[in-house]
Amino acid sequence: MTLINENFLKLQAGYLFPEVGRRVRAYKEQNPNAKIISMGIGDVTQPLAPAVIKAMKKAVDEMGRIETFRGYDDSGVGYEFLRKAISENDFKARRVDIDIDEIIISDGAKSDTANIQEIFGLDNVVALSDPVYPVYVDTNVMAGRTAGPAGKGRYEGIVYMPCTEANNFVPEPPKEKVDLIYLCFPNNPIGAVATKKQLSKWVDYAHKNKAIILFDAAYEKYISQTDIPRSIYEIDGAKEVAIEFRSFSKTAGFTGVRCAFTVVPRQLKAYTKDGRAVEIGPIWKRRQCTKFNGVSYITQAGAAAVYTEEGKKQIKETINIYMGNAKLIRETLSKIGYTVYGGVNAPYIWLKTPKGVSSWDFFDTLLKKANVISTPGAGFGSAGEGYIRLTAFGQTENVKEALERIETIS
Ligand SMILES: *Cc1c(COP(=O)(O)O)cnc(C)c1O
Repeated sequence: MTLINENFLKLQAGYLFPEVGRRVRAYKEQNPNAKIISMGIGDVTQPLAPAVIKAMKKAVDEMGRIETFRGYDDSGVGYEFLRKAISENDFKARRVDIDIDEIIISDGAKSDTANIQEIFGLDNVVALSDPVYPVYVDTNVMAGRTAGPAGKGRYEGIVYMPCTEANNFVPEPPKEKVDLIYLCFPNNPIGAVATKKQLSKWVDYAHKNKAIILFDAAYEKYISQTDIPRSIYEIDGAKEVAIEFRSFSKTAGFTGVRCAFTVVPRQLKAYTKDGRAVEIGPIWKRRQCTKFNGVSYITQAGAAAVYTEEGKKQIKETINIYMGNAKLIRETLSKIGYTVYGGVNAPYIWLKTPKGVSSWDFFDTLLKKANVISTPGAGFGSAGEGYIRLTAFGQTENVKEALERIETIS
């Protein structure tokens, strides 16, 4: 008799996006001529940068010639040309000293933020924000770090940190002692960012408690305010206590190409039960090399092109399109009386529903009256109740039309 891993049975149904899909389909069936505009998708819509396409085509040609063909990447952590471009452009240019040996290339920040918990003991206490990117939660449930459901989509055994208007959507370190802390700035779904001072509190907390911060910076290139840190390593002492996750998905349109990286600084250590310090970098590399054979050469060549002069300019232009949409959404909705957050340093707008209206009810109103798809905030965690998330990905004409319709029904 084959036993199942019962941790998987603790998972609550992935309810949010299937339910959004179900409601949209039901509405379309009854209203086949409705022109529905989606402001719900968390995926990019603009094509890849021409510099990336050029580099990938060149790489394809190299793979077709015996002299330049490449098989497995023996380093197991990504080609040096890409790690060098990342180290110099993303870090050293901003006076953050991250070396190529501290960068591990992967196929996505989803897999990295999902897999990282594997190298840490099951007894660690995990702290997460509410609302949250569901990957951090579900992977810890699968691993067995939680008990069963605790109501409102929560699990016993996890420390939830609500992000609310009261704390400006950036949680303070908890009173209790936790060991693994997931932070995501710029934040999905809220669009909030953390200041240097706020992140410093977390770094201090991690030092005091020998905890580790898992910092998801997938939206780092959307930051427009110059005083907001792009990397947790801009905070003194962060290299001893933080792992940073980055991705080409949202910053360079790679959601369908797949390339990302994780930074594990040399100074970063965790402990054995008897208190011996162990370096984390080699363990993460060992894990990756055992379970993953690397990102394709063609993809890594495309990712490196993001750091060329033309590549940088082109991805900036694309981000400007999305952030232009974000500004339009933010300003139009504020003007007509809604309270909105985010959309300045992130492609997400967090809209407060009218008083007394739930996330799902407001979702239904937008769908039925304005034919606009949003994402109910409650689906990201109980502290998201009373909000909806709008995304700035999409064509500007569609965004304008969606906003006109919302204005008409408001
Ligand atoms: C989109 C997203 C990612 C990126 O995932 P990839 O696997 O690199 O495509 C990571 N974290 C958050 C919070 C995201 O929204």
